[in-house]
Amino acid sequence: MTNPEKTSGRTLAGKCGCRTVHYAVADEFLYAANCHCSDCRRTTGSAFKPFAGIERDKLVVTEGGDNLMIFGDENAHDAHCKACGSLLYSLVRDGAFVHVAMGTLVDDPTIRPTKHIFVGSKAPWFTITDDLPQYEEHVVAGPVGA
Ligand SMILES: [Zn+2]
Ligand SMILES: [Zn+2]
Repeated sequence: MTNPEKTSGRTLAGKCGCRTVHYAVADEFLYAANCHCSDCRRTTGSAFKPFAGIERDKLVVTEGGDNLMIFGDENAHDAHCKACGSLLYSLVRDGAFVHVAMGTLVDDPTIRPTKHIFVGSKAPWFTITDDLPQYEEHVVAGPVGA
């Protein structure tokens, strides 16, 4: 992996619910969003999943790597702790990027989610109360009502 100390100098720690799996990620996220798709809702048990994207080589599992449960295939999967089930990150875009489930970060990242995506499949019982832009699906498909 790229040594994060050489770039921003800041590395963020993250861990699962039972503290078995630890990871370190550079504080250099390229984008962050709240995803309301049904996969993200089910895998987290929440109304939506706040996630932040970064190049795959900027995240490293530092402890408990043997305890990862990989759901999916080699280049597109969700990585959970197999002891407690926490979703830690997802490998996306042909394995080039990871989407870190922001709820598992221990440290405060510089980035903040800047949009809601997959609002078209949002849970009907949840109301978005902030002013961030909303997208029916992916950002490339355009904002709601556009
Ligand atoms: Zn765990
Ligand atoms: Zn999603």
